[in-house]
Amino acid sequence: MAHVFPDIAISLPAWLQHYSFDTAYPAVENRMQLVIELSRLNVELETGGPFAAAVFDVRNHRLLAPGVNRVVPAHASVAHAEIIALTIAQQMQHHFDLGATPESSYELVSSTEPCAMCFGALPWSGISSLVCGARDADARRIGFDEGPKHQDWQHQLRARGIQVQTDVCRKDAVAVLECYGDKNMPVYNGRAGKRQLTHHSRSLSDFGSRHEK
Ligand SMILES: [Zn+2]
Repeated sequence: MAHVFPDIAISLPAWLQHYSFDTAYPAVENRMQLVIELSRLNVELETGGPFAAAVFDVRNHRLLAPGVNRVVPAHASVAHAEIIALTIAQQMQHHFDLGATPESSYELVSSTEPCAMCFGALPWSGISSLVCGARDADARRIGFDEGPKHQDWQHQLRARGIQVQTDVCRKDAVAVLECYGDKNMPVYNGRAGKRQLTHHSRSLSDFGSRHEK
C-alpha cells in the first residue's frame, strides 16, 4: 500500500508577513526590541509560544529573516523561533550555511536563550554571533523545559567562533514570558510534560558534570 506523507511546511503567522520592518536596526538593543515585540505579538494574537528570533546581516544591521514560535499551530515540536528564523534565512540565501562565504556574517537574536535543541542547531547554521534577551531560567520559571543543555553552552559556542551576548533587554523579554504565563497559555513540553528521569539522566547539571569528568 502506498502512503502519501506530508511535505514539511511551517508558515509564519499572517500578521508577521505584513509587519512593517525598519530598513536597519543599528544598535543591538534595536534588534532585540524588534524581536521582543514579535514575541509579544505572537502571545497577544495567540499564534504560538512566547518566543521570537531573527537573523540580521552583521555588515549592515538589516533584517534577513524573522521567526516566532509555532509549535502548537504547526503541530511540530521543532518549530521553535530560532529554528524557523535560521531556516527562512537559509532559504532566502539558497544555502544551508549562513557562513558559506568569507564576507558573510549573520547574527541570530533570540528573545530567550536557546533550548538544548536550538543550541545544537547553532553551529550547523553558520551564524557568527548570538544575542539573547531572557535567560533559560526565565523560561523554566513559567514551566518550559529547556532540555539537557550543557552548563557551559556559551563557552562551547565561543570555542566554535560564535560570539555570545546575553541579558540584552532581559527585563522586557521576561515581561512577555510572564504575560504568557499569566494568560495560562499552553506549555507544550514533550510527553505532556511528564518527565521520566532516571538515575542515569537526573538533571542538567548531572549531565554536564558526568561528561566533563
Ligand atoms: Zn528551542
